[in-house]
Amino acid sequence: MTGPDGGARMYQLIAELYPICRSITGNGVRETLRLVGKHVPLSVHEVPTGTKVFDWTVPKEWNITDAYIKDSRGERLVDFRRSNLHVVSYSVPVRQRMRLAELRPHLFTLPQHPDWIPYRTSYYRESWGFCLSEQQLGTLPDDVYDVCIDSSLEEGSLTYGECYLPGASEEEVLVSCHICHPSLCNDNLSGIAVAVTVAQALGARARRYSYRFLFLPGTIGAIAWLALNERRVSRIKHGLVLVCVGDAGASTYKKSRRGNADVDRAVSHVLKDSGQPYEVLDFTPYGYDERQYGSPGFDLPVGCLMRTPHGRFPQYHTSADDLSFVRPEALADSAAKCLTTFDILERNAVYLNQNPKCEPQLGKRGLYEGMDGQAQLPHHEYALLWVLNLSDGRHSLLDIAERADMSFDTIHRAAQALLTHGLLRPSADEGRSAIPALSLHR
Ligand code: ZN
Repeated sequence: MTGPDGGARMYQLIAELYPICRSITGNGVRETLRLVGKHVPLSVHEVPTGTKVFDWTVPKEWNITDAYIKDSRGERLVDFRRSNLHVVSYSVPVRQRMRLAELRPHLFTLPQHPDWIPYRTSYYRESWGFCLSEQQLGTLPDDVYDVCIDSSLEEGSLTYGECYLPGASEEEVLVSCHICHPSLCNDNLSGIAVAVTVAQALGARARRYSYRFLFLPGTIGAIAWLALNERRVSRIKHGLVLVCVGDAGASTYKKSRRGNADVDRAVSHVLKDSGQPYEVLDFTPYGYDERQYGSPGFDLPVGCLMRTPHGRFPQYHTSADDLSFVRPEALADSAAKCLTTFDILERNAVYLNQNPKCEPQLGKRGLYEGMDGQAQLPHHEYALLWVLNLSDGRHSLLDIAERADMSFDTIHRAAQALLTHGLLRPSADEGRSAIPALSLHR
């Protein structure tokens, strides 16, 4: 799905997933994963209700078929079939007749945006409610209403999907997105669409790292995955949570808890190199599943790639986070930045200068064409000098690119030239396989 029409194809997937009523469990999640599974190899896992996952317990499974508020003439004034946001997620079943005053405490609106329907959940306490626009609430007369929520809250399971792409090494890159929001596009579906696209692109390439894409319900899904895979998490060397990656705003990156992990530096490098406006934020223990991956018992190097962060756009968690709020070009740009980041991580390595005592004579090897006394050295030749100088076994190519303030590609190209001439060799201490043989074309 990369390339010029990649954005349009991601947008198409979002449009396909948009009508599905998802929650942290239930058939909406399964249907979402079924559609995702048409694009990438996906294994679907079911974790039974009641399973203890660290301090949490997998909740009962929630499903819903219909819900409405009918007036005394039998007209559906609020109708789940028109928007699944109308029902508070995880509402218990209800079938009652009641006056407006009795119904009123169960109705939620957004007075500051009178035309929008808010998104509300009630996961861990059994209650029920409807969401509607402030404007519609104002039109409800005092009447006797027929209130129905045809839902079920029963023993079942939590469902998540996993797409694993093995690489030359068992060391892993983790990509995580949440799949628990109903008809909301930027918060939820944009992350799914970009993750699918990135997985497809990586699937077609030679990979040093193995990649694991998780499509799971927020919080409880990530906690369940970590609890069930605790023995394997030491393989995760880099990771990204993808969320809110489809709006027209600038790219934003929230660093991992470590703050200076390779993934933090690689994403920062990509954003800076893009020439577009961007923002890099420090880690905070709030937000999306980077909080779970970055809890102190795991402290995984997992950051969060976004455009406009949650809570900073008024459409967040409302019916206005719809198909008009996400843009094909923003989706394509987010996917490209994610792939460029992984491309850097794949090619990043530590080398040793094989001629560390004074500069090697580059001219006789055809590597140096600069005229003596030139004030400005050609860019590529300057990069050669940087790589030679810092390849002491302690600096990676990414370190060198940062220190030289040059693009990673320029530094990588210089390293390739020096390797070809035997002036560098992979550092033995690095404990990673040498990578120069892998060709990763963008
Ligand atoms: Zn959300």
